[in-house]
Amino acid sequence: MKNLYLEKDSKRGTEKTVLKLMEEMGELAESVLLEDEEKIKEEIVDIIAWTLSIANILKIDVSSAFKEKYDEICPRCSSNPCSCDSI
Ligand SMILES: [Zn+2]
Repeated sequence: MKNLYLEKDSKRGTEKTVLKLMEEMGELAESVLLEDEEKIKEEIVDIIAWTLSIANILKIDVSSAFKEKYDEICPRCSSNPCSCDSI
């Protein structure tokens, strides 16, 4: 993602890139309501791509950050699988 889009992402900036992510989330919601599995898959990938773009702009190492927070256990209840009351 960095090689592919970092220059464009940096020019666009964080705020406008977050708006792109929100746009994709709206498209995912619409796809879920329509029960369009192909479109749902597409929108999930777009959401991940825009999220990684935001991380790249902000120089966040997502792999390390993810492992730091979720390292095989739920960060709230520290269990695997999660045993939190909320769904
Ligand atoms: Zn939990």
